[in-house]
Amino acid sequence: MEIIVAQKLLRANDQLARQNRHLLDEAGVFAVNVLGAPGAGKTTLLEALLPRLQDRFPVAVIEGDQATSNDAERLEVLGFRAVQINTGSACHLDAGMVAAALEKLDLLGLKFLFIENVGNLICPAEFDLGEHFRLVVLGATEGDDKVAKYPAMFQCADALAINKMDLAAYFAFDLGRVRREMLRLAPETEILPLSAKTGEGVDACAGLLATRRERWFVAVSR
Ligand code: MG
Ligand code: ZN
Repeated sequence: MEIIVAQKLLRANDQLARQNRHLLDEAGVFAVNVLGAPGAGKTTLLEALLPRLQDRFPVAVIEGDQATSNDAERLEVLGFRAVQINTGSACHLDAGMVAAALEKLDLLGLKFLFIENVGNLICPAEFDLGEHFRLVVLGATEGDDKVAKYPAMFQCADALAINKMDLAAYFAFDLGRVRREMLRLAPETEILPLSAKTGEGVDACAGLLATRRERWFVAVSR
């Protein structure tokens, strides 16, 4: 019984996700779902990444958190349009929540939309939000065993940003292990070692997103 309920829920979500994606396609807005555990540095990465994109690509952000609007405020201070979703008891964003947030954003003139998901390595992987790209963030401080422990999350990544590489040595973080496990699980996924704090590797991440947006734009413009 419960399995059937869950399947119905996911079907309803997928339908809303398709509507979101259609709306974004029409507006020419490339949406990036940013996933990862609490403390991986998702917001800090956005703080480093968005200023590198904004000259060429007007950007807005949807922030998902159970409570508080702290992360949306951090990005608004930098001059970015940010809409906060508080999920209450829910531990992930779903397509309906994103649809409601999209109504509050003027999509015209935007080129990128970043959707920071609730910090959680499990169920956000199951919910399509209507995004075009999934950027999973793993902090080197979290340990190199996370890919093996939470395969669904890492398997769904279009790109994996490995943040806090400036601290990797202190935490005996083995990048080689992550690369090997990703090769087995999701060989197409781009791996981007970086530090949002020092800025190392962030240009490469911005470059990859710009390239993927370009590829998508050519495909939807046909
Ligand atoms: Mg955050
Ligand atoms: Zn959840």
